[in-house]
Amino acid sequence: MTIRDNIQTIGERIRAAEQHFGREAGSVELLAVSKKHPAASIREAIATGQTQFGENYVQEMVEKAAELAGRGIEWHFIGPIQSNKTRLIAATARWVHSVDSVKIAQRLSEQKPADAPDINICLQVNISDEASKSGVAPAALPELAAQVAGLPGICLRGLMAIPAPEPDVERQRAVFAQVRHLQESLIAQGFALDTLSMGMTDDMEAAIAEGATIVRIGTAIFGVRH
Ligand SMILES: *Cc1c(COP(=O)(O)O)cnc(C)c1O
Repeated sequence: MTIRDNIQTIGERIRAAEQHFGREAGSVELLAVSKKHPAASIREAIATGQTQFGENYVQEMVEKAAELAGRGIEWHFIGPIQSNKTRLIAATARWVHSVDSVKIAQRLSEQKPADAPDINICLQVNISDEASKSGVAPAALPELAAQVAGLPGICLRGLMAIPAPEPDVERQRAVFAQVRHLQESLIAQGFALDTLSMGMTDDMEAAIAEGATIVRIGTAIFGVRH
């Protein structure tokens, strides 16, 4: 299978899941997660019309962005964020999915180049993976959202989650449903949110069933990472 074939297959799976779970056609966007894969693989994906790419490591994203400049890519940063790397992220990424502190959000807000559009932000919520240090606790979410939503230069779009691996689809769905409920509760409190970034290669359909608007797919497009 080529990268082109894989992207076509994933696109078909997304459309099928939208239909099956009563989601509007075209409401789920594919983010191609290209971490640890070379620029040549990204070029293959671009040739299919894919424009949204996700990276976890700042240096890798910056290098690829330089190599692939002028090709219409929008970079999404989805990895853990160290505060000394926010300037590079703010200069490169259109989206940052992994914001989990007001400090990081403030730095992105201050460091965004003046001529760049607002950076789209998702707050990463620590939903099922107690062992993980990333993500804000659900109870702390409303306060963080309130602090982030007012910052200039960034636009709070929604939530991101990386649940602990779980083979059972019903249990996958139960966790994603919790994320959706957190989002609904924020919307009820007046936050204008339209993005749920959830679902990877092994739990994509469950995420779409529970309202994902961006699925982050690496392995099923680019193959196994080394
Ligand atoms: C690596 C990664 C993905 C892609 O995972 P696959 O299982 O390869 O599809 C998605 N989201 C995040 C945050 C990742 O780190």
